[in-house]
Amino acid sequence: MSSTAEILIVGGGIIGMLTARELALSGCQVTLLERQQTGRESSWAGGGIISPLYPWRYDDAVTALAGWSQQHYRQLSESLKEETGEDPEWTQNGLLMMQVEDQTEAQNWAAAHRVSLQILTADDVAACEPLLGSPSPAVWMKDVAQIRNPYLAVALVASLRRLGVNVVEDMPVLSLLSRDGRVRGVKTAQGEISAGQVILAGGAWSGELMAELKTDIELQPVKGQMILFKAKPGWLQRIVLQGDRYLIPRRDGHVLMGSTLEYTQFDKSTTEVALEELQQAAFELVPGLKDYPVVKQWAGLRPGTPHGIPYILEHPGIEGLYLNAGHFRNGVVLGPASARLMADIVLKRETIIPSDSYKLLAIH
Ligand SMILES: Cc1cc2nc3c(=O)[nH]c(=O)nc-3n(C[C@H](O)[C@H](O)[C@H](O)COP(=O)(O)OP(=O)(O)OC[C@H]3O[C@@H](n4cnc5c(N)ncnc54)[C@H](O)[C@@H]3O)c2cc1C
Repeated sequence: MSSTAEILIVGGGIIGMLTARELALSGCQVTLLERQQTGRESSWAGGGIISPLYPWRYDDAVTALAGWSQQHYRQLSESLKEETGEDPEWTQNGLLMMQVEDQTEAQNWAAAHRVSLQILTADDVAACEPLLGSPSPAVWMKDVAQIRNPYLAVALVASLRRLGVNVVEDMPVLSLLSRDGRVRGVKTAQGEISAGQVILAGGAWSGELMAELKTDIELQPVKGQMILFKAKPGWLQRIVLQGDRYLIPRRDGHVLMGSTLEYTQFDKSTTEVALEELQQAAFELVPGLKDYPVVKQWAGLRPGTPHGIPYILEHPGIEGLYLNAGHFRNGVVLGPASARLMADIVLKRETIIPSDSYKLLAIH
């Protein structure tokens, strides 16, 4: 096989698919290559909280992307539902963060970024979320929403097909092709595909394809395990976070408990230890969960970067080669803004936010 595409995107997670959608909506001819099925890796495994956890602890570069996405998520979800009939279930049920030590930093950050954030007493917390085992003072962000990320992925691929994007599944990209400082396309198991522009959005695997390009990219897989309870719709109301553990109630009564943070390379197996730890943490937060079964356990590989700031840039030494990867724990919330910023860079438009913070990549 030998063929040609205008813009090639490698990787069909939400970052690749959102980027493809932005470019297709701008009139570009896009081909997306996914080595297995779209939206089945980290983008499927994630929790779908549309906010970083403890957002004030992040760099402004993350806050800027998150803020833009948060303003556009509801509209995105509604448009996808209208276009495709698939509902990503954008739901604004707020984020309740328990036992937060740096409340003053949280308040200062919220004031500076005009974000709604309140400090609640233990009594307030008990009144608003009566299922909690030990209500304590908490930080409450009422505007935080969630999305059902597997549904988002299904809606996105349907939207791409409607927009005329050539989505090719079961098509692993083996290497990137470049010559004389320009990208030429990619090599797949079924032959070469030439393209004037190639965007690498391979999540945790992006580093493997970048390895031969001698950049200082710092990207590694970070495993996260989750468990799923089947409770009743409307039972737990809010997203609840304590330490590194959170509960996310879905509309249909499922409650996710996440997540572990494990540096175990590309191992995606689930473990008994994580199951027990997550179950224990869930029971401590909401004792009533003991009455409901755990119906699923899974793991996904986050594309981890040292500060959680994604790479969104054109390769400094290879014209036409772009990278949109490294969203670590926040690819769902940062996705729409990252995709739009990537499209702005590719199409040489004015960017939605300054792009310098996402260009921290040098060649050796
Ligand atoms: C347990 C867990 C909980 C999370 N919770 C949240 C949350 O609540 N909120 C939030 O914002 N984020 C969350 N995240 C993070 C978020 O899921 C990720 O940051 C995001 O999904 C990354 O998207 P991606 O498209 O870059 O990567 P992926 O979804 O991993 O997609 C990359 C795709 O590229 C494909 N690919 C790789 N190499 C090749 C190749 N050579 N050729 C062709 N295709 C290739 C892969 O098959 C894959 O489909 C969570 C993650 C985990 C694991």
